[in-house]
Amino acid sequence: CGIVGYVGPRPALGVVVEGLRRLEYRGYDSAGVAVVSDGRGAAEGGRPPSDPPTRRIHVAKKAGKIANLDAELAAHALPADGLGLGHTRWATHGGPTDVNAHPHVSADGRVAVVHNGIIENFAALRTELAEDGVTCVSETDTEVVAHLLGQQVSAGVGLPEAMRLVCHRLQGAFTLVAVDAQGPRQVVAARRNSPLVVGVGDGENFLASDVAAFIEHTRDAIELGQDQVVVITDSDVTVTDFDGVPADVRPFHVDWDLSA
Ligand code: GLU
Repeated sequence: CGIVGYVGPRPALGVVVEGLRRLEYRGYDSAGVAVVSDGRGAAEGGRPPSDPPTRRIHVAKKAGKIANLDAELAAHALPADGLGLGHTRWATHGGPTDVNAHPHVSADGRVAVVHNGIIENFAALRTELAEDGVTCVSETDTEVVAHLLGQQVSAGVGLPEAMRLVCHRLQGAFTLVAVDAQGPRQVVAARRNSPLVVGVGDGENFLASDVAAFIEHTRDAIELGQDQVVVITDSDVTVTDFDGVPADVRPFHVDWDLSA
């Protein structure tokens, strides 16, 4: 239902949770976040930095209101630094449970993904994954995407190309946002028949289903076209189609009155 992604110097966890709060008006039944820590920063709860730094995905997700997620984060601190993504879910496939909440993570724990919309051919993809020995732990249509991306990146394909390859296999409507803990410092997203906007900051960039998620940070935005993949890093925004052909971007300025 609501999606937020962030790469930049600020603590990603706070930016993402605040972004989710800004999308609460849309309605949802669960909320979750994933942070890829580089292991250098201390966790908000005081967990010591690891040595040598390890990059891995940390997930917190809960059925119910963002207040439930806040309580989970208070009980089990996530690293505050690194890359972040978050989701408020409006369940279509699988009930509103903690396990079905997004983000979903690939079997090897490398890739985390959040999704708005419906993957219509998820049952066939799930069967195919089962034949490869990959078992889904949730009842969602979304989880197959995490595993398909995971298979690609563990075969050596970069996350942007993995996203393009996987999108070619998906039917239905989707906004997808993903991170690879072992990959470069970037957040990768794709859309088909579901909204996705980039917030362009100064040394930081945002992804969201709705500009409301990042409007307090930047009013410079790019609207993604149909069947496009975008990669954000601290300083760059790169857009291609699903075949990797560079696409023209459509920048716009958000001139709403925040108090409206
Ligand atoms: N179809 C997905 C699910 O049920 C995503 C729903 C949404 O757009 O929030 O988990």
